[in-house]
This record gives sequence, C-alpha cells and structure tokens, in this order.
Amino acid sequence: MEHFAEPYRIKVVEPINLISREEREQRIREAHFNIFNVKSRHVFIDLLTDSGTGAMSDNQWAGMMLGDEAYAQCANYEHFESTLRDVFGFKYFIPVHQGRVAENLLFSNIVKPGDYIPNNTHFDTTRANTLHKGGYPVDLICSEARDPHSQYPFKGNMDVARLEEFIREKGAAKIPACFLTVTNNSTGGQPVSMANIRATKEVLDKFGIPLYFDAARFAENAYFIQQREAGYKDRTIIDIVREMFSYGDGVLMSAKKDGLVNMGGFIGINDAELEEKITNLMILIEGFRTYGGLAGRDLEAIARGIYEALDPRYLEFRTKQVKLLGEELMKRGVPIIEPTGGHAVFINAGEFLPNIPPSEFPGQSVVIALYREGGIRSCEIGSIMFESKDPTTGKSEYAPYELVRLAVPRRVYTNAHLMHVALCMEKIRDYKDKLVGFDIVHQSKYLRHFTLKLEEKKSVRTSV
Ligand SMILES: *Cc1c(COP(=O)(O)O)cnc(C)c1O
Repeated sequence: MEHFAEPYRIKVVEPINLISREEREQRIREAHFNIFNVKSRHVFIDLLTDSGTGAMSDNQWAGMMLGDEAYAQCANYEHFESTLRDVFGFKYFIPVHQGRVAENLLFSNIVKPGDYIPNNTHFDTTRANTLHKGGYPVDLICSEARDPHSQYPFKGNMDVARLEEFIREKGAAKIPACFLTVTNNSTGGQPVSMANIRATKEVLDKFGIPLYFDAARFAENAYFIQQREAGYKDRTIIDIVREMFSYGDGVLMSAKKDGLVNMGGFIGINDAELEEKITNLMILIEGFRTYGGLAGRDLEAIARGIYEALDPRYLEFRTKQVKLLGEELMKRGVPIIEPTGGHAVFINAGEFLPNIPPSEFPGQSVVIALYREGGIRSCEIGSIMFESKDPTTGKSEYAPYELVRLAVPRRVYTNAHLMHVALCMEKIRDYKDKLVGFDIVHQSKYLRHFTLKLEEKKSVRTSV
C-alpha cells in the first residue's frame, strides 16, 4: 500500500497504558469474560466501537464554547437544523441524545405488534427496538454479502427482488417502513450503492411504503459511492449525500459516528403529523423539542462535525487506515470480510477457528485472546449478539457469520497503534488451535451482549 499520512496533526494527547499480562488475565476473569465489563483504564487500544469514541476537532471544541444553554429555541439548534437541512434535506430535524432514542421515538409511533420492518441488515439496537414494539425485524441483504471473500463493491446492498417478493407475501399494510442502513454496519461496514438506493425506493413506491435511512455512517457510504460507483467519480461528497437522501422519507442518525461527536443523534422527516407525535413523546422521555437530551453546545458540535465528516481528505485517510489494518491482518493469515468497509475490519472468526462451533462463540474466543495478548478491546459480532430462538421449535438460529469487529475510532489512533493489533493477531494465529469456546452463564432478554457473563470451556475441542 502506498504511504499516506493523517490530514490533521495532534494538539492534545491522552496517555494510554498497557498493563501487565498477569493483570490482564485477572481483569478479564473479573469481567466474566465480557469485554464490556473491562475498565477503560485497563485497555490499551480500544477498538470496541467507533461510536462516540472519535476525537473532536479544534473547530468543534471552539464551537462548544458558543453553547447557548437556553431551555427553548437555543441558537445552536438553529445552526443544527440549518446544517442538517442543507446536508440531508428533510423538513423537520429532531435532536436526540443518541441513535437508539431516535429508533424508539419513531417505532413507538409507527410499529404495531405483528408488523414487519425490512432492512438491508438491522443494527442490534434497531432490531431490539423493533422487537420491543412487537414487530419483526427482517434482513434482506444481497446475495454477494454471503461470500466473505467476494470483492463486490457494494456488499451492503438490499436484495431488491427479495424485498418486492417479501412485501407481496406479507402485504404492504403490515410494513410501516423499510430501512437502508448506510453503511451496513452488521455485515462489515459495507456500502450501499446509489443504484440500490434508487431501486429500493422504486419498489417501495409501488406499495406506498416509506424509506428510512439508518445513517450513522452516511459520509463513509457517500465516499465509497464516489470511489466505486460508475458516474460518481467527479461528484462532490455533499452532492452524493444529497442525492442519497433525496430518495428517503426520513433518516435516523446516531451522530456518534459520522457526526464526529461523542454523544448525539437526530431524526429527520418530512411528515408533519408524525413530527407532532414524535415531539409529544420526546418531551416525555428526552426533553424539549429544540434540545432533545443534549446541551446547546452538543448541538453546535454536531452541526460542525457533520460538515467535517464530508471532507474528502478526511474520508480518504480514514478508509485507507481501515484498509491498511485489513491488509496487515490478511498478510498474516487472518481471514477478514473483504473488501474492508468504512469503519472497521471484521475478522472472520468462524473461518479462523473452525474447531469452535457457533454454539461456543468463536468470535468471543478471538475477543478474549486479543485482550490477553495485547490489551486490545474488540467486539464479537456473531452468535452472542445475534443468536435467535425459533418461536415455535425453540431451536437456536446462529448468526450468518461469527465475526469480531475491530472498529476504528475517528481521528484517534495512528497507524502504529493499528500495527500493534496486527502483530498481536499474528501471535494469536500461531497458537489458535489452543483457543477454547465459551458458555453463557447469565443473560438478559434484549441486547444480551452488553450484560452477559461467560465461562471459558475447560478443554480444547478436537472435533466439531
Ligand atoms: C450506532 C448505531 C445505532 C444506534 O445508535 P446509538 O447512538 O448507539 O444509540 C443505530 N444504527 C446504526 C447503524 C448504528 O451504527
């Protein structure tokens, strides 16, 4: 890979510390092998998530000083609203303190028990919020995404033909909305093409079903469209973003990703009646309409962050950095989901550890090995997160892939930090046949990965 450098320099530093191997062993046991329970100060490189973990710019911090903390109609809300209108183009923008509240506010108003919500792939919180309202989340990802080594450039795409079949099967009355997640987080941060967005919208229009975007990584998606889709090479990122959202009826966004802030989110919609219903509910659970659980200064940071995320030099560096980590892993014989996506490298733990079956969570084995080896925190995106039980037979359905996500926080780690990760994985590769699976000993009904407790299997499996 050609050499490339950060399009920013470091102005403030935060010390990080690699505790001893013995202490790491003690900490992971105390955490019941749930990496969410490990204290941040006991982590060296934290790739758990790219959500809310980015570094704000000097421009954003300067904006924080301009916080207007009036309860109603603060000046920062005006800037927030005008920015979002400029970029996403919807009529109403409703601030919330993070993405899942946007999901709750929308789904509380549109999902009835027994409804279906199709999506290219649901993120864990959209899945859980749909289920919580009695709806069924349905993933209709394109077939190319099923081959982890396919180089197809838009593996986040919706299977549009399947979507149409599905709507005819279930009836449009049972489908209050359809979603496109851009980029498609759960299948590897893979982008959705403009052609696919357009085709999805065309199908939905036949049935009068609204299209919503789950847009946490909209800028990364737009960058991939510019780089990979015919006809977009000479279009600016903001122009591509505007076209993407012109096909939508609304957007939910966790600004903790491409908003380049540590906390925040919003809903954008055109429907006045729905806006009023959401406003009434948000006042009950989140705050007044113009602050939505955020401080005025937070709204300012989002307004500034959204524009910064559209900077092509930033997007080029970011996607190259993620690609570099992926290439360094592949060079060392660690299988990943190819091609690398926008925000993370996904190790294919199922392929890496064929001796550990999905019922024993091979992804978790890699997560724990990475912590033990290098103080690295990563996240299982496999059957711990997505196992579901068939409601009639009670049989387990495992995730399509057993993945480990190495999410790269925005503007935080240098390439040298990421090399530490690649070198640790190289060591793990050499003793991978000694890794063991896990049993769940405690879990909750929704989003169990956040709170579960695990026990390590006593011995290495010799066959599956
Ligand atoms: C992070 C995320 C959410 C949820 O947002 P939070 O801010 O974590 O509540 C929803 N959808 C996608 C695609 C996400 O990445």
